[in-house]
Amino acid sequence: MSADLTPPTVADVRRAREVIREKLSLPTPLVHSPGLSERWDAHVSLKLECMTPTSAFKVRGGVYFASLLSDEERALGLVTSSTGNHGQSIAFGCAAIGAQATIFMPTDANADKIAAIERLGGKVELVGERFDESRRKAEEYAAERGARYVEPVEEPRLIAGVGTAALEVLEDQQPDTELVLLPLGGGTGSSGWVTVRDGLGHGAQIWAAQSAQSPAAHDAWRSGRIEDRPNRSLAEGLATGSPFAFAIEILRERLNDFILVDDDQILDATRLLWDMQHVMAEPSGAVAVAAAEQEQERIAGKRVVIVISGANATRSQLLEWLKG
Ligand SMILES: *Cc1c(COP(=O)(O)O)cnc(C)c1O
Repeated sequence: MSADLTPPTVADVRRAREVIREKLSLPTPLVHSPGLSERWDAHVSLKLECMTPTSAFKVRGGVYFASLLSDEERALGLVTSSTGNHGQSIAFGCAAIGAQATIFMPTDANADKIAAIERLGGKVELVGERFDESRRKAEEYAAERGARYVEPVEEPRLIAGVGTAALEVLEDQQPDTELVLLPLGGGTGSSGWVTVRDGLGHGAQIWAAQSAQSPAAHDAWRSGRIEDRPNRSLAEGLATGSPFAFAIEILRERLNDFILVDDDQILDATRLLWDMQHVMAEPSGAVAVAAAEQEQERIAGKRVVIVISGANATRSQLLEWLKG
């Protein structure tokens, strides 16, 4: 439960950048890809959000969020629920300010993500077969202790924090970007991108992509209705059964397109990313590559940035997926 649900502005994102850039050695690289550029007949660059201390973009939000806690909130610690990358982000942010993070995860959570949270000093509670159950338990636990429960999406400060990636690209690294493609699950990343794009008065198009096997956010964005949808994608960072109204509202009029791709296209994209650029992504991190491959006729001739949002797959998953 966030105290304040006012969408952030680009001024908030600038404040976040000042707070987090030292702690995360930002900016992350923006790398031109000759192979993908030739393949799609475009000028393609990859924003390597897998190159953060937690190997995913979300840590930008976690560090900013934790930096704004009151002394009382810090003393009680933060509680959240996550399939992994959000949990790592909050654990990292808490470690940076000496607070305890408690992360509720589903019992089948990715082992590397659990280990990484524990290395950061976070406490992991494996509860529930599905994320929704972990979430309920986390909220109960936080309420019992009076500790702050961090919503995965409905937190303007998380959006301001993750929006710093957009500021890096659109203001500094490649101001003449014409099109950005990025993966969308809960919608914090995309909300940050449209906030910065519009706050700067920048003309770039922003397209999001999600798995057709977990299309909750996509369907809500298209229909304007907040409804549960099937949730079976192996792109776990994007797999929510319910859309988040707060982000959908920010994105409804401002996201320029929203593309669905199948899980097998996403796995093809992880292989393509390796073959063309030797960048390793988890499936969620490669979804925008899959969308670009599918929509290549529409991206031809443009200066395109593809956001590679994370790389937290286990070795055994990678071995299986890369075999193709
Ligand atoms: C969380 C996550 C996403 C989705 O980001 P949202 O802000 O929830 O839309 C994409 N990729 C990775 C690797 C993630 O962890």
